[in-house]
Amino acid sequence: MTRASEIVLISGDQLTPAISSLRDASPAETILLMAEVAEEAGYVPHHRKKLAFLFSAMRHFAEEMRAQGWRVDYVRLDDPDNSGSLGGEVARARKRHGDLPLRVTEAGEWRLAETMRSWTNCTIIADDRFFSMPDQFAVWAEDRKTLRMEYFYRMMRRETGLLMDGEAPLGGRWNFDADNRKPAERDLLMTRPHAFPPDVITRDVMAMVEARFPDNFGTLSPFGFAVTRADAEAAFDDFVAHRLARFGDNQDAMLSGEPFLYHAVIAQYLNCGLLDPRRVCARVDEACRAGRVPINAAEGFIRQILGWREYVRGIYWHFMPGYADENRLGATRPLPAFYWTADTDMACVAACVRQTRDEAYAHHIQRLMVTGNFALLAGIDPAELHRWYLAVYADAYEWVELPNTLGMSQFADGGLLASKPYAASGAYINRMSDYCRGCRYDVKKRTGAGACPFNFLYWDFIARHAERLNANARMQPVLRGWSRFAEFEQAQIRNQASRFLAAMDDGQGQ
Ligand code: FAD
Ligand code: SF4
Repeated sequence: MTRASEIVLISGDQLTPAISSLRDASPAETILLMAEVAEEAGYVPHHRKKLAFLFSAMRHFAEEMRAQGWRVDYVRLDDPDNSGSLGGEVARARKRHGDLPLRVTEAGEWRLAETMRSWTNCTIIADDRFFSMPDQFAVWAEDRKTLRMEYFYRMMRRETGLLMDGEAPLGGRWNFDADNRKPAERDLLMTRPHAFPPDVITRDVMAMVEARFPDNFGTLSPFGFAVTRADAEAAFDDFVAHRLARFGDNQDAMLSGEPFLYHAVIAQYLNCGLLDPRRVCARVDEACRAGRVPINAAEGFIRQILGWREYVRGIYWHFMPGYADENRLGATRPLPAFYWTADTDMACVAACVRQTRDEAYAHHIQRLMVTGNFALLAGIDPAELHRWYLAVYADAYEWVELPNTLGMSQFADGGLLASKPYAASGAYINRMSDYCRGCRYDVKKRTGAGACPFNFLYWDFIARHAERLNANARMQPVLRGWSRFAEFEQAQIRNQASRFLAAMDDGQGQ
């Protein structure tokens, strides 16, 4: 066997043979190092399905690369000599294979990227699995008064040609959002995402997760995520064939017992490398041009990936490390226990937390307008909430989760990312879901016995932050609405909110 001349470290979110660290490497001369380590598995208490998904996808990727002739050195979590950290595993690999130079693709998270920068004899290569690079975002952001996603997205459309007709947007508009706000009807023909039965490798990993993480949040079985590239692609094909056409119309809808509706459920595959965002967007562009899906569906979908996903990554790298500490609304309340137990009478929150526990998944509006909205209105500490979102979803990585949580959902960056807080009363949830029908609270009541907590908390939030929100033109109608309430009504709202929050802080059932 040829003597190896370098080690390439592949981390759990770099599971593609196209990763930049392998581009100039030769299978005969490279040790491909992969390690399951306690530090990565434990920096937040990850959902057990997320852990099983990632360890299984890593082990399958190792097999895929071995089959292609690569020399894979794989360290399992239960290896008795496992040092517990990636740095420790690099050091141990250098003892096994000789003190070889190391090559890595840059880590996706600030924390690990910093650690890697301290490693000796290590070449760090940019991660080019995205449509844009952080320095391109920095050039775009320079000298702009506001960093609105919409303008970044238009630039990306022009650059990639996705859904473009020459210089003009396909269909004559950049944005079909206004067509994409329909509530969902129950549909007996609605297909659910493919579930892939666990194979031997996944079952082995599940047993390990069961034994090593008995107290972590989340249901482990049934487990149905794809853990190979081929299956992830099959899952995406299934979405394109059966759900994409309705993605636009019902993008913001929520329906009890239907966790996935017409969503793709692919973020976990994109974020760990099993799916390639370029191929995914190209497929949707092609389906639209061929007339197989309407423009509002294709544009709505491509905007999420080419727009939001790229944009939040740009925000992350541009504003880290300080971004993680942002708390411009001064929210300090601890995260209520029901975010882990689902033990609340608020039917919408209970449904979203239960679904999160069972699936390690909630779609965007459930995250933004139910759990996120409640936390915003209740003044939950954004850092605590960030750790929750980072732990509970199979697709959660800090680069994408943090700007979504701190910026979009909690307005903790003071409006850098969102032009106004995503705060809403129960009326929004009632319009976009059927949760209120099965709730003990009355969504039509603002105060008094049985009033929907989202209603009084919403107005309490507006009143609490009136001074700050006053500077925001988009909030003026809401502030005028608050000032039109009679004084006694305002007092009633604020008292009820304060009693509710005090009881919640005391751990009383809500
Ligand atoms: P679909 O609705 O089918 O959308 C298609 C794809 O678009 C997604 O797979 C995803 O890659 C991308 N996308 C959609 N919205 C966003 C967005 N706002 N930001 C970035 N990409 C987006 N997404 C994550 O990938 N990881 C996270 O940790 C994460 N945390 C979030 C936390 C909060 C508080 C909020 C409000 C949103 C978060 N999102 C996160 C964005 C979004 O909710 C998920 O990407 C989406 O729900 C994943 O489900 P899906 O694959 O079915 O997406
Ligand atoms: Fe949620 Fe209020 Fe509707 Fe109950 S009534 S489901 S708490 S919005």
